[in-house]
Amino acid sequence: MTEEIEVSDFVMMSDISEQSMLDLLKERFGKDKIYTLIRDVVVSVNPYKKIDIYSKRDIDRYKGKNIYELPPHIYTVADTAFLNLRDQEQDQCIIISGESGAGKTEASKLIMEYIAAVSGSSLEVDKVKSKLLESNPVLEAFGNAKTTRNDNSSRFGKYMDLQFDFLGNPIGGMITTYLLEKSRVVNPAKDERTFHIFYHLLGGADKSLLDKLHLTGNFEDYEYLKKSNCTTVTDLNDKTQFNSILKALDCIGFKKEEQDTLFNCIAAILHIGNLKYNKDENDDDKAVIENPELCGIISELLNVQTDDLISALTYRTVIDKNKNSDQKNIKVPLNLEKALSCQDTLAKTLYEKLFSWLVGCINNNIFHGKNDGTHKYVIGVLDIYGFEIFKTNGFEQFTINYCNEKLQQLFIELTLKSEQEEYNNEGIKWENIDYFNNQIICDLIESKTNSVIALLNEECIRPGVKSDMAFLEKLNNNVINHPHYDSREKTRSSKDIDINMFKIKHYAGDVIYTVDGFIEKNMDLLYNDISFVLNSSSNPSLREMFPQNIDNISMKIPETIGTQFKNSMGQLIKNLTSKNPHYIRCIKPNNNKQSGVFDDELCLHQCRYLGLLENVRVRRAGYCYRKEFSKFIERFKLLTPQTWPNWRGEPQEGIKIILKAAGFADDDYCIGKTKVFIKKPQMVFHLENMRND
Ligand code: ATP
Ligand code: MG
Repeated sequence: MTEEIEVSDFVMMSDISEQSMLDLLKERFGKDKIYTLIRDVVVSVNPYKKIDIYSKRDIDRYKGKNIYELPPHIYTVADTAFLNLRDQEQDQCIIISGESGAGKTEASKLIMEYIAAVSGSSLEVDKVKSKLLESNPVLEAFGNAKTTRNDNSSRFGKYMDLQFDFLGNPIGGMITTYLLEKSRVVNPAKDERTFHIFYHLLGGADKSLLDKLHLTGNFEDYEYLKKSNCTTVTDLNDKTQFNSILKALDCIGFKKEEQDTLFNCIAAILHIGNLKYNKDENDDDKAVIENPELCGIISELLNVQTDDLISALTYRTVIDKNKNSDQKNIKVPLNLEKALSCQDTLAKTLYEKLFSWLVGCINNNIFHGKNDGTHKYVIGVLDIYGFEIFKTNGFEQFTINYCNEKLQQLFIELTLKSEQEEYNNEGIKWENIDYFNNQIICDLIESKTNSVIALLNEECIRPGVKSDMAFLEKLNNNVINHPHYDSREKTRSSKDIDINMFKIKHYAGDVIYTVDGFIEKNMDLLYNDISFVLNSSSNPSLREMFPQNIDNISMKIPETIGTQFKNSMGQLIKNLTSKNPHYIRCIKPNNNKQSGVFDDELCLHQCRYLGLLENVRVRRAGYCYRKEFSKFIERFKLLTPQTWPNWRGEPQEGIKIILKAAGFADDDYCIGKTKVFIKKPQMVFHLENMRND
């Protein structure tokens, strides 16, 4: 064993404390060793600079190696997952977590690249691989944006199944996305940008495409881009990016009409943002569009009738039931406020639907159906928006942080809770290691009753005028005593919590949410007129994005966004639990996107809330390997003639004979009620090596 190996796993530290953990992390970071292990969990610190460890040579070096044979690397996780899939024939998942800017998306791409490089190759397989890899730049262009925390921040959650055949060749994939932060389209915060694609298109499209889309190529000409006071990002060249997107779309298999639809919609959204409204000269309660010529351009891009579009943007159709119960549609004009909100709703919804449609198109091109018999196993890679705290936090931050809360819960469940429970169940001597269980916070957010989501829904579905403040009042009436909840009402002295705010003490830190917009965003109402007009488009893709479903017509209250998100989180967790998990815990070394700077306090805070020290303790005291008696004997009986070919005595005795013959001391292993446990990974490799000799 070299020195490198000894200090690259936190479990091997001589002194297990927060300080020594931080020291080791910092020392390694200083030497550009950004990866450190906790047994099989990889802790990664964002270097904010290029490090030469991802070359073809590096990939070859890690291929098929055991996790302890080489310095820790993200490739070790990818390789272990891939080998497990192939040799143990089991679905795998790789869960990447950490706060915004910690390096999750980069990690997920490195994993995909590694798997593509080490898996089989043929003309067909290589084509699949390129499509899978090229889906990344496309999704990032449409789903990522510059925030104050990260210049390339994922504004949606992404789970991707990589599908393999019996031989371990990639044959396809399937992407699931979670709640895109669509409010960004119309309202990017100061010093942030909206989604990259808007700038890529304006800065990268050639003159003929811009002309066709009636665009100028100048960011400042568009209201939605102008308002945040930030249009460019250092180190991001919109022109180069746009060309890569075009190539990627071609490679994935997007048809010409599909590419046209993408850019037409993006251009339409920019034009929608430039619509100007005023009050009608003769009617204060009626809004009129001051630049209706723009509607002509928008309707051309969306292939709808201009009059219909203008009408949908300025009127609302209501059903008038008269005494004879005949139904009659009447058009009620929108006032200025409503018309402005309708304008933004159109832009946001169009973008959201376009994004889902884009993901659908990618899936159509990469998904490999299960019915031809070749499909065998998957590796799921989860890269979701990281925990975030901004100056002002709204419904979007609430859902993002809720999602991170759920993932932390899964980590606790899989690495701390069930691990310790198993030792207790197996009757193995074990001293419980304390850890903070965030279940209590998950409950505060998502319980069936008396939780933030439940109370928000309650306010949304109640008849009459709903208000954000009434929702806050409900919170104060029902969860005020919850230890992780705070508000002005609860602590009158809390100066930082205004009267329209509430605080949740998340596992990763306290976040103060402003309730403004919670109701509207949770209900996510689209004016029916808008949906009708887009459904009347002569472009079939737009019709697909805006289907006329029963809900629209019957005016039934649709499921709230909170409920939908809660359900999709539930499904995600269920899906991840059904697979063999691998963890990458990403840490952000400083808040300034700087290389070479390790902020002790910030890193310690992350180590703490990620529960890394507890993880080290459990792993250190615990056993790295476990197998049911019969499976163990089956695998290793050939090491001893006594147990070969069929052991007839008690399995425990048979196992002891095998381990003794392999040179194990009594404290190298432990026999439970149904399983045998081995402490050190080295001893497991030793066993496997003997078996293979
Ligand atoms: P978010 O939750 O906001 O999406 P994230 O965790 O996905 O954040 P990334 O986008 O992966 O964060 O990383 C932020 C930036 O940090 C990258 O754009 C890149 O500049 C840098 N970075 C991350 N990982 C690495 C790495 N391994 N090597 C070099 N630079 C990196
Ligand atoms: Mg990301």
